[in-house]
Amino acid sequence: MPVLRKDPFGPAWVLMLPERGLERSDFGSVSPADGASPYAPGNEAALPPEIQALRPSTSPANGPGWRARVLPAPASPFGERVRDERSEGPFRWMQACGREEIVIEHPDPGVRLDTMSAAHLTDVLRLYRDRLAYLASDPGVAHVQMTRTTGRAAGARVDHPHGQVLAVPVPNRWVEEEAAAAAAHHAATGRCLFCDVLEAELRQRDRVVSANAAFVAVAPYAAKTPFETWILPRAHESAFAAVAANRLPLLTELLQTLVRALNDALEEPPTNMILHTRPHPGDAAYHWHLELLPRLTRHAGFDWASGSYVNPTPPEDAARFLRQALALAEVAE
Ligand SMILES: [Zn+2]
Ligand SMILES: [Zn+2]
Repeated sequence: MPVLRKDPFGPAWVLMLPERGLERSDFGSVSPADGASPYAPGNEAALPPEIQALRPSTSPANGPGWRARVLPAPASPFGERVRDERSEGPFRWMQACGREEIVIEHPDPGVRLDTMSAAHLTDVLRLYRDRLAYLASDPGVAHVQMTRTTGRAAGARVDHPHGQVLAVPVPNRWVEEEAAAAAAHHAATGRCLFCDVLEAELRQRDRVVSANAAFVAVAPYAAKTPFETWILPRAHESAFAAVAANRLPLLTELLQTLVRALNDALEEPPTNMILHTRPHPGDAAYHWHLELLPRLTRHAGFDWASGSYVNPTPPEDAARFLRQALALAEVAE
């Protein structure tokens, strides 16, 4: 049985997956070895039944005709059972429980975030938002996340455009680290740390890549990797699940702009896109954001040993390079 163990020395919960070793597959019985996409239309029968789909009302479930589909993650280690945390001395553990789903974003395996139509991406973002809101409605959930991986070097096993949503009863260490800093700032100033950083970034402009009326794309001050870029809502909001539908087209616009800049400037880099959010709205100290992490370097021994990161591309340079890529694209148009 997959088990979550709490690290007694830090905030992390570690998933122990002894029976599967390091091989984790997120697709069903269809092998991508022949180059065909397991998520393409026509393969529905080989995948678990859909939970939700964007399809015309005349098109039956679990067949072709869809624009996007949500399925339970076929190989998920997270069983749907009640939280049964146990402890013995300094050790805490529980059976891995939670929900993991995949969102197949488009029937075309070759389309990218920046090449699908804006209207389609807005529908997909609404689907992610609604799944996260639904998953967060379970009272035992402590953390929800959305991740999207492109390229083998970033860990993707299927090239078809898709993402994952996950809801688990344990907190996420990276979100908790940010939340701890933000809570301390809020206790001292009464203000949101993310809002204050955003205000300073918009004043300085050095690290701002692009912005519109509702969202800002910025290379963070202490970017951990080259071209790490975040998208944050201008208005304070702790949960992505609460984004108003009329602001999603603006998120689409900025996300497509940013991904186009990264793809143009860095030749479609393998990238991890990670949503950091609270499950619910109403947290005055936390502010949701999307982190885009192109995988351009490998962490060396120093990074692990020192607990720091080595970033050879300062975020000011990365932001300038991306702004230039956007300006060039505009001239070309
Ligand atoms: Zn804020
Ligand atoms: Zn974050």
